[in-house]
Amino acid sequence: MSHVIHRSLAKVPLVAVGGKGVQLFDKAGKAYIDASGGAAVSCLGHAQPDVMAAMHRQIDQLAYAHTSFFTTEVQEELADHLVAHAPAGMTDVYFVSGGSEAVEAALKMARQYFVEIGQPERTHFVARRQSYHGNTLGALAVGGNEWRRKQFAPILMDVGRVAPAYEYRDRRADESQQAYTARLLAEIDAKFQELGTDKVIAFVAEPVVGATLGAIAAPAGYWTGLRALCDRYGILLIADEVMCGMGRTGSLHAVEQEGISPDLMTIAKGLGGGYQPIGAVLAQGRIVEAMRKGSGLFQHGHTYIGHPMAAAAALAVQKVIQRDQLMPQVLARGAYLQKQLHARFDTNPHVGDIRGRGLFWGVELVQDKDSKAPFDAALKLHAQIKAQAMANGVLCYPMGGTIDGKHGDHILLAPPFIISESELDQVVERLGDAIDTVLARNGATAAA
Ligand SMILES: *Cc1c(COP(=O)(O)O)cnc(C)c1O
Repeated sequence: MSHVIHRSLAKVPLVAVGGKGVQLFDKAGKAYIDASGGAAVSCLGHAQPDVMAAMHRQIDQLAYAHTSFFTTEVQEELADHLVAHAPAGMTDVYFVSGGSEAVEAALKMARQYFVEIGQPERTHFVARRQSYHGNTLGALAVGGNEWRRKQFAPILMDVGRVAPAYEYRDRRADESQQAYTARLLAEIDAKFQELGTDKVIAFVAEPVVGATLGAIAAPAGYWTGLRALCDRYGILLIADEVMCGMGRTGSLHAVEQEGISPDLMTIAKGLGGGYQPIGAVLAQGRIVEAMRKGSGLFQHGHTYIGHPMAAAAALAVQKVIQRDQLMPQVLARGAYLQKQLHARFDTNPHVGDIRGRGLFWGVELVQDKDSKAPFDAALKLHAQIKAQAMANGVLCYPMGGTIDGKHGDHILLAPPFIISESELDQVVERLGDAIDTVLARNGATAAA
């Protein structure tokens, strides 16, 4: 019996007792390659010695001091480090304890900014379908994951909704990529106009959509077009990099590859790499300056913001990423993973699309490659694959509802940055076997 309210109330999960490098171990002694880093969290793998040592040093010095009385050296140093490596103009950091808290803080900061500069009539957010921004009420409201939202929808704030940038399914056969991008941007422009261009606070989006779509970046020109559109109307652009940020895509921030700088950016999962719960909002200097010159404070706060242990862990993780020059490594290993995924799955009639950046990859399953028809949602293929992959000794992050919150299945891979080519071979082999087993079990042929 367990007194914990687990994610599934139907069964208690296996007990994890240890981890080292890319592996996790359960109580029965079985080893798993952690090919998803949980939910794209464990960027350095498990038991990284420099991070462990930094956490030990911090706990021996100071575990906690409330931020209404004190700052700490470690929080200051982490903020300095993040700002030194941030997109252009991002000069200030607000620390929280996770991704949802980061999104909530960003939404409130965006609203307060407009109150401070005399535009209190701005009250709307615009965001995309098939996105995820967290599970607290504000974050859930801006998120476009229909399954997660459904029962809470009546108590969520109203958010303007536009299409995701999901080229594999939504670009028409007779449409160039450029025309598709222009159509997406025109829809956003129309939504701004509909709500009132002087009534919108911000547009919120993931530069590379994570769990909900399975590692999908927008087509070329989308983010520069979006940036220009927001600037035209004085609307803020909030990039949610909770999953795709901190090196996951091969650059410290995913927006670097889009050549733009957002007004606010949320980071979390790879910031602390799972060693401590931590998230943050990075802000353009003018936003913080408006609050400083206006009311003099950001009207927000939690008990654990700027937690010294969390800051120590995150600082150590980020220093290892810099010291070991892991960004070129992520790109190199990512290119290798891409090649191996294509080698293993291109002949599979049920793998419709393989997409991603860096060490962030999605494999989308289809009933039929030509029509892109999904499998029957009732089969819950994603859940079967997750269980079978785990039995095969590999942890991956499959999700259903890829297309509309209900239909479609994909598998997300987000291995630690330190993974080797031979370990990636094992990941692809074990995942491939799991997919074959599950497809055969459900009466689908695994080979063309
Ligand atoms: C996971 C995630 C969140 C929520 O983060 P939590 O730490 O789970 O609260 C928000 N946005 C994105 C893009 C995420 O992937």
